[in-house]
Amino acid sequence: MDFQLTAEQISIRDMVKDFARKEIEPHIMTYDEAKEFPTEIIKKLSELGLLGIIYPEEYGGSNMGYIEYALIIEELSAVDPSIGLIVAAHNSLGTLHIFSYGSEDQKQKFIPPLLKGDSLSAWALTEPNSGSDALALKTTAVKQGNYWILNGSKTFITNANFSDYHVIIARTDPEKGSRGISAFVVEKGTPGFKIGKNLNKLGMRASDTAELFFDNCKVPQENMLGKEGEGFHQSMSILDGGRVSIGAMCVGIARGAYENTLKYAQEREAFGKTISDFQATKFKLADMATEIDAARLLILRAAWMKDQNMDLNLESAMAKLYASEVAVRVANEAVQIYGGYGFIKEYPAEKFYRDAKMGTIGEGTSEILRLVIAREILQQSKTV
Ligand SMILES: Cc1cc2nc3c(=O)[nH]c(=O)nc-3n(C[C@H](O)[C@H](O)[C@H](O)COP(=O)(O)OP(=O)(O)OC[C@H]3O[C@@H](n4cnc5c(N)ncnc54)[C@H](O)[C@@H]3O)c2cc1C
Repeated sequence: MDFQLTAEQISIRDMVKDFARKEIEPHIMTYDEAKEFPTEIIKKLSELGLLGIIYPEEYGGSNMGYIEYALIIEELSAVDPSIGLIVAAHNSLGTLHIFSYGSEDQKQKFIPPLLKGDSLSAWALTEPNSGSDALALKTTAVKQGNYWILNGSKTFITNANFSDYHVIIARTDPEKGSRGISAFVVEKGTPGFKIGKNLNKLGMRASDTAELFFDNCKVPQENMLGKEGEGFHQSMSILDGGRVSIGAMCVGIARGAYENTLKYAQEREAFGKTISDFQATKFKLADMATEIDAARLLILRAAWMKDQNMDLNLESAMAKLYASEVAVRVANEAVQIYGGYGFIKEYPAEKFYRDAKMGTIGEGTSEILRLVIAREILQQSKTV
């Protein structure tokens, strides 16, 4: 077992840290308050190769593994979690679904523009009446000659308004349950496909989250990913990898909140001492640091397993569950240590507090992840 990062991993991490501090940090509250998508930053990230982190060079990718990917998402999120979310959803949801299950022709068509930054990708499983219960999805795709006719809607879709290529999960056979669901690439501008307005969110406000509407939307057969009926199982596997990046985002949120608080606690004075001199504050800081480290280790283990092509259903669920709950706890304590200033927008704590909550909801709520973990451990205990 080797807990050390390679020199290359350290250099990538430090490059992203430096970029985030210089290029992102000065603008975060402007984006947040205006609910503005950070187009310029995303352009610069694409120039750094961060829209194709986990993809081979032959498609225009940066050819890195999930360890590097997790480090990058943590660094971006430690400064602005919205940007971590945009990059994570692009890399390991929409783009990865096309890359993992698309034919060579589909990959040649869709992947290079996505890695170059011509467009972001979006991935749409959730519907207004089916989130955790994804199998209850109602969007239909009915075969008509060489086309599929899509009807229905999706909601909470990250990057929706900035994506030319949407991976849509739809029901192709109502009789077949999880085997009656398929995945399609729906291109922006396809007649019958509409994208709603950016939703007005509590946190992650610089990221775009919108509804999608399909009204007799005609999608060519050649845009189906993999075989008919495979879409649900493909999606569950995509979520396993996606949870590594959302977990890394949560580690970044927790670290960003903690690092600011550590500094503040050593400057703010009360009763003739800095507040870091009080044991109550020291214990909070100690718990924050310990939990962040534990969360990162879980994420890096899941990232390593993904790089080894191992089944990571259990480990990615554990890592994302723990990291997201740590982010909420740490951001909460950060506001507490900042006192009244934790409630004020001129200080960083309140934004981490708002952004952190998304982590326990997206890509599997904490409750659903506990069900996944319990199912896996009970199953494993039967095979011992
Ligand atoms: C900012 C943001 C970005 C997102 N991006 C995307 C995206 O890009 N693509 C996409 O497809 N989706 C996306 N989502 C959707 C997200 O995955 C869902 O919100 C999530 O899966 C929960 O579904 P729901 O909102 O319908 O909640 P529900 O499923 O209605 O759950 C409501 C509550 O009930 C609980 N619950 C439900 N079932 C059970 C059960 N069996 N046992 C115990 N408790 C249960 C849940 O844990 C939750 O607390 C995003 C969401 C957000 C907030």
